[in-house]
Amino acid sequence: MKICVMPGDGIGPEIMAQGIKVLEVIGEKFGHTFDVTEALIGGIAIDKTGVPLPDATVKACKEADAVMLGAVGGPQWDTIDPAIRPERGLLGIRKELSLFANLRPAALFPQLKKACFLRSDIVEKGIDVMVVRELTGGIYFGEPRGTGVENGERIGFNTMVYREHEIRRIAKLAFEAARKRSKRLCSVDKANVLDVSRVWREIVIEVSADYPDVELSHMYVDNAAMQLVRDPSQFDVIVTGNLFGDILSDEAAVITGSIGMLPSASLGEGNPGLFEPIHGSAPDIAGQDKANPLATILSVAMMLRYSFDMAAEATCIEEAVAKTLSQGLRTGDIMDEGGTLVGCVE
Ligand code: ATP
Ligand code: MG
Repeated sequence: MKICVMPGDGIGPEIMAQGIKVLEVIGEKFGHTFDVTEALIGGIAIDKTGVPLPDATVKACKEADAVMLGAVGGPQWDTIDPAIRPERGLLGIRKELSLFANLRPAALFPQLKKACFLRSDIVEKGIDVMVVRELTGGIYFGEPRGTGVENGERIGFNTMVYREHEIRRIAKLAFEAARKRSKRLCSVDKANVLDVSRVWREIVIEVSADYPDVELSHMYVDNAAMQLVRDPSQFDVIVTGNLFGDILSDEAAVITGSIGMLPSASLGEGNPGLFEPIHGSAPDIAGQDKANPLATILSVAMMLRYSFDMAAEATCIEEAVAKTLSQGLRTGDIMDEGGTLVGCVE
């Protein structure tokens, strides 16, 4: 298995080093060889090569079976030409790998219940939701789009369009993901108002015929946003379009209470998946041994589960994270004492 690792900027290198350690331990324990190569992205790539996404990085990613990213950006690059900002590197690699699905699990470890600001009776029921967001279509990219003047006043417009093949592939991926979890899928749309949503719903229902073992439900996005804070335990996997997914995945993340705990995966077809923590480069704590590496370590688990079909290995990491938390080990974001700690994988 070839893995291309891009540590990036800020806390990126420190959290990634911990992720790699865990990967090595898993390799030894389960008898796998992970061939890890490093590549430049973001600010460090700008400093060394002049661009945030060097060709060599794109090549290394495409040759790998999976890609891991730390984080990009920092104040020292804020003033440079927007066309070559560190964030461009991230957008660029997502595009190069045609990653059309973004998977964001938001799980609350019982050990961290205090971090969650939902009512305690709701927290007791548990939170373990995964939002599958379509990433390359919908209103973000639909044509026509633009700004102009109409009858003497300014207008702006975008088009929410989804084509059958786009809906089919994201639905399939979400059903597959639900199969690896609690086998419940909720498709979120706005079919009472939007035509595009009616087609979305129709196709999701068609795809469901291939997944009789997964329970499918539908919800309007306004209701879903409400239900997610009212009782997240009712959800397993949520599949939705680009705009609704952007909003719901942030909402799902924030209810768990810790940005330092949440992993993500971006997947495509026939290309390696990209795995990264949802947090940024946290320049305010970089180099101080304070960063929480668990989001990255859990991203390693996602990589094993979704790119390599190594469910037992992924579960092992997740259990090690739980065990580490049970032992009371904490970073500053989830307690008041610092220190970068490795999960204890045995
Ligand atoms: P970006 O634009 O890169 O997403 P951001 O401004 O949204 O960055 P982050 O870099 O994610 O924000 O940081 C937000 C806050 O959370 C900061 O105070 C940071 O120190 C903290 N933070 C982020 N990641 C971690 C982590 N892994 N461990 C501890 N604290 C973190
Ligand atoms: Mg951010």
